[in-house]
Amino acid sequence: MVLAKRATLISPSLTLGITAKVNQLCSQGIDVIGFGAGEPDFDTPVYIKEEAIRALNSGFTKYTATSGIKELKEAIIAKFQRDNRLVYTPEEIIVSCGAKHSLYNAIQVLCEKGDEAILASPYWNSYLEMIKLSGAKPVIIKTKEKDGFKILPEALQQKISPKTKLLILNSPSNPTGTVYTPVEIKALGRIIADNNIMTISDEIYEKLIYSDVVPVSLASLSDKLKSLTLVINGVSKTYAMTGWRIGYAAGSKEIIKAMTNLQDHSTSNPVSFVQKAAVVALNGPQNELETMRQEFKKRRDYMVARVNSLKGLSCLNPDGAFYVFANVKKLFNKNIKGLEVKDSLSLAECWLNEARVAVVPGAAFGADNYVRFSYATSFEKIKTGLDRIETLINKYY
Ligand code: PMP
Ligand code: GLU
Repeated sequence: MVLAKRATLISPSLTLGITAKVNQLCSQGIDVIGFGAGEPDFDTPVYIKEEAIRALNSGFTKYTATSGIKELKEAIIAKFQRDNRLVYTPEEIIVSCGAKHSLYNAIQVLCEKGDEAILASPYWNSYLEMIKLSGAKPVIIKTKEKDGFKILPEALQQKISPKTKLLILNSPSNPTGTVYTPVEIKALGRIIADNNIMTISDEIYEKLIYSDVVPVSLASLSDKLKSLTLVINGVSKTYAMTGWRIGYAAGSKEIIKAMTNLQDHSTSNPVSFVQKAAVVALNGPQNELETMRQEFKKRRDYMVARVNSLKGLSCLNPDGAFYVFANVKKLFNKNIKGLEVKDSLSLAECWLNEARVAVVPGAAFGADNYVRFSYATSFEKIKTGLDRIETLINKYY
């Protein structure tokens, strides 16, 4: 059998793979602390679950419009008005099976062979693979730790060419937790507008910010930027609904129509009764969000302090999302029980074998001197996991 070339270009997702591996080891009774999963460990709020059950019991189990039911689009429109001062019509909204699905559809309808798509490294792994799948060439802006892993305006300007078709912005960012200030977004916005660059603004971690930065959506800065921006968001991270698979995009009618046509021939609508639950998530009480955010902040503070106290590790204090991106370069060039620890992959392997701790190697995000810790896990597990790494480091370094 010969696979299509595009299938051979795609790497498996390390972020999903690590989580699967931890689950497999735990099911075999092996005690592993997983810092891999990029998903809240909290349960979905009860009132959201109850709405899904109600919708199921009432027989809301048929196909819906591909781009989402009217009430959900209205709830999304209200969310954009409330949180981002953005006004959209239903034709400018699509609901997909997760934000990942909206991103995939968007990149497929925008990019093709001969195009260039700009993204910052460290990047979320799926952006790169989606760009490759579209046939376009990924053009990477290597951001630096000393710049807070932010794209500097001059670096963006330098990467723009006549072939530039798309830019991807992600704030708060996965994997670094970087949050751009409104001033920084405005500076990038000027370049985007001057060069007419279509931009995807992935705002999925919008509600998980621990500093006093008030997030501003690129699309809200001017009419021109609104027309150039496709905003991506979803319920996975905000409402602890990762498994429910609801994400959405807002942008020009033309792009949303093309994404809907593509979705028509792949998944059709996102699950009918889950859409009803998403309406309640967006329109319902938002107080549980604050409880979750406060808990994440406590864990972040603890994890950042501990990571920086460990020999050979250092990290910035991330303002958002639920990841700590730790520099581990000083731990390389060491043989531990026959394993040559020489990069982020071998270090992650060593920690899993010798300390029973799982992290995502920075290589997955185009930054091999780093590993990603997710603090979307209990305080006790964070403490135990870091204790184990400390013991291992004290023993071998
Ligand atoms: N964007 C970023 C930056 C993410 O980390 C994730 C996490 N999965 C997604 C999009 C997709 O989220 P989902 O498909 O669960 O809505
Ligand atoms: N986005 C999360 C992560 O980076 C979930 C896994 C995924 O969708 O890749 O871990």
